[in-house]
Amino acid sequence: MPLPNHAPVNLLGYSRDQLTELFGEWGEPRFRATQVAKWIHQGGVTEFDAMTNVSRKLRERLAREAEIRPPEVALEKTSDDGTVKWVLRLPDGNAIETVYIPDSGRGTLCVSSQVGCALDCTFCSTAQQGFNRNLTSAEIIGQVWLAMQRLPAPEGRPRAVTNVVMMGMGEPLANFDAVVPALQLMTDDNAYGLSRRRVTVSTSGLVPALDRLAGHTDVALALSLHAPNDELRDRLVPINRKYPIAPLIDACRRYVEATGSHSGVTVEYVLLAGVNDRPEHARELAALLRELPCKLNLIPFNPFPGAPFDRPSEADIERFERLLQKAGYVTTVRRTRGDDIDAACGQLVGQVEDRTNRGMRMIRLHAEIPGTERRAS
Ligand code: SAH
Repeated sequence: MPLPNHAPVNLLGYSRDQLTELFGEWGEPRFRATQVAKWIHQGGVTEFDAMTNVSRKLRERLAREAEIRPPEVALEKTSDDGTVKWVLRLPDGNAIETVYIPDSGRGTLCVSSQVGCALDCTFCSTAQQGFNRNLTSAEIIGQVWLAMQRLPAPEGRPRAVTNVVMMGMGEPLANFDAVVPALQLMTDDNAYGLSRRRVTVSTSGLVPALDRLAGHTDVALALSLHAPNDELRDRLVPINRKYPIAPLIDACRRYVEATGSHSGVTVEYVLLAGVNDRPEHARELAALLRELPCKLNLIPFNPFPGAPFDRPSEADIERFERLLQKAGYVTTVRRTRGDDIDAACGQLVGQVEDRTNRGMRMIRLHAEIPGTERRAS
């Protein structure tokens, strides 16, 4: 039997179109892609031999040339509030984090897209880790696969995960080619079959990628805005210097129109005491978003060691929210979940062998934000 002359391909990350194409090259009928996708993603199978309705010939070729390899769980921690965090070890020694957040009637999985992040948002601890590499599609969808396999279905529901948000480590739109097949699998009826409203891509605002996205998927969009003007956003979300607010909001509007989304964009706004949580910021935000179909998700800052910001008081959070509600916006305040296991928004760090000059960049950034130098790590 000839030995494969290249590493086996990990079929876990193949969308059904990609499987169809591969099997086409092998002279197999199209429906094999549907069968194999169902075995992998619904059956949770990792051995080709278990695929009993697939021809023996194809199973043998698959066993020679392909594999189904989910990420390896290095650590599983459960919070007092039921939130589960997994640290997943990758073959190259890096580690990423995935979080499951159960709520009444739903279970949301927060999925990572990169090892670390290169975007330097000053309030996010993932940024402090630096950046190593993009995740593969298999490593992205593998997080969903693992959660579906490991979590017991709650009473009255067929499975634990009902929603997926691409809000873990990394910037999903900076890893476009791997994220798209993973999103397609999430919404594919022959894989996870989640409705497009229950899958959310969150972005800090890569405008050209956002424009390309609508040609590939119609999942829900979240925008990490965090500031009502360019002067402030430039400092909190440095990618704003490249893609400022006005063109970014235009791109979001185009995405909503192209995908026919009824709910519009979820605008995320992390509340930082004294920095972006003042009444004038709320008013400016209300005016800024007038033309964008959206709802607002306010996220009180979750601290991490060395963070140069504080969480606002409850009174300030309420005042900010009330001003936006009075202006006609639908708002929610995201309550902190899983912070006892460092699984809350902005606390995911994994283990990133940084390839960038992270330390120096953080020192420069903090030097640019008045009042933050003293507490920079
Ligand atoms: N890079 C993408 C995906 C990550 S989402 C994006 O920026 O959208 C990460 C979300 O976590 C951000 O929208 C932000 O709202 C939130 N976040 C990051 N750091 C945080 C912190 N320290 N406290 C609270 N929320 C934080």
